[in-house]
Amino acid sequence: MRSSLFIVLVLGLAGCFDPPVAADYKETRYIFGTLVEFVIHGTDEKTAKQAIADVDRDFQRMHKDWHAWKPGGELVAINAALAQGKPHHVSSFVMPLLKQGRDFEQKSGGLFNPAIGGVIEAWGFHSDELPVGMLPNLADIKARAAQHPSMNDLQLTDDMISSRNRSVQFDFGGFAKGVALDMAVAKLKSLGIRHAIVNAGGDLNTLGTAGERLWKVGIRDPRDWGVIASVDLNGGENLYTSGNYERFREQDGIRYAHIIDPRTGMPVDHTVSASVIHENGALADAAATALIVAGPDAWAEVAKAMGIHYAMLIDKQGTVYISPEMLARITFETDKKLTLVQSRPLSDVAMTLSQTRH
Ligand code: ADP
Ligand code: MG
Repeated sequence: MRSSLFIVLVLGLAGCFDPPVAADYKETRYIFGTLVEFVIHGTDEKTAKQAIADVDRDFQRMHKDWHAWKPGGELVAINAALAQGKPHHVSSFVMPLLKQGRDFEQKSGGLFNPAIGGVIEAWGFHSDELPVGMLPNLADIKARAAQHPSMNDLQLTDDMISSRNRSVQFDFGGFAKGVALDMAVAKLKSLGIRHAIVNAGGDLNTLGTAGERLWKVGIRDPRDWGVIASVDLNGGENLYTSGNYERFREQDGIRYAHIIDPRTGMPVDHTVSASVIHENGALADAAATALIVAGPDAWAEVAKAMGIHYAMLIDKQGTVYISPEMLARITFETDKKLTLVQSRPLSDVAMTLSQTRH
C-alpha cells in the first residue's frame, strides 16, 4: 500500500519538472472521400485535436475547389470557361496546382498530364459510382486524345488563365492528395507539432519520428489488399502508391482502369501499381501515376527524369520492378513467391526540381 503511494507521488513530482510525454494521439476523419488517419506524437491532446480540426477545414476547401466535376467549385468553373475558349480568374488556392501540374507534365514527358480531364470524363470516371454499361465510343476517346490537351497550352498571369487549346480540362486526381498532405503537414508544423504521420488510404506524409523509432509504414499489395512490404521513413519522407486496381469499369471480362495513357486516351492495363518515396508528396503522387503509365519498359527512365530514387512497380503478372535504392530499404512482408526485376541505380542521374524547371 505504502510503496504504491510512494510511486504515485514520485511520478507526480517528476511531472512537475518534466512534463510526461503524451502517448500518440490518433484520429481518423473522412475527408476527400477517403479515411484519413492522423497520428501525432509528442504533443498534448488539446493541441493535436485543434491542429487536426484546422487541417480538416483546409481539406474541405480543397475538396470543393480542386474537384474536377462537383458543381460549385473553382476548378469546375475554370474548366467550363476553357471549354468555351474564354479566360477565367484563378485564385491563389488553385494557381499553385496549375504550376505544379505543368511542371510534372514536363518532367514526366507528358505521361502525367492533369489536362486530360475531358478524356477521363469520357471514360465515365467523373462520378462517385464506378461506370457500368456500354463502353464509350472509342473513336470519340481517340479523337479527344488526338487534340493533345496539355498544361503547355496554358497562358497564366498572376490571377488569370486562358488556354490555346479548348480540349484542355483539368483533373487533379493524380496529385491533389499529395498537394493536400504536403499542406496538411506544413500546417501541423506551423502549429508546433514536430512528429506526425498523415495517412490517406496508404498515401502518406511523415514529420519527425515515432519517438525512438522511425515511422514504419506498409506498402499496399495490389493483388490482395494486404501489405507487400514495409519501410522505415525518415521524417519528411512520404510514400505514395497509385493503383490501377480499385477504380475501373469492366466490359466482356476486360477491365478499363482509371489511369489513362495521355498518348492514346486508353486505360493502362500492363501495370497495376506503383509506389514512390519522396520528400515532396505532390511529386511522389504524380510520379506514382506517371510510372503506371510508363510501365515495365520505361518506368526507370521516367523516375529518373522526375527526380525519383525510390520506386517500385508491379505489373499485371505480379512481377515486381524495383530500383536498387528502394530494394535496399524495404522489407518484403509476403510469403508469396515474387519475381523481382531490378533496374540500374536511379541516383546517378538524379535531377532536382530546380534544375529542370522551364
Ligand atoms: P489513386 O487513386 O490510386 O491515388 P492516382 O494517384 O494515380 O491513383 O490517381 C488517379 C487519378 O488521376 C485518376 O482517377 C484520374 O483522375 C487522374 N489521371 C488518370 N490518368 C492520368 C494521367 N495520365 N495523368 C494525370 N492524371 C491522371
Ligand atoms: Mg497519383
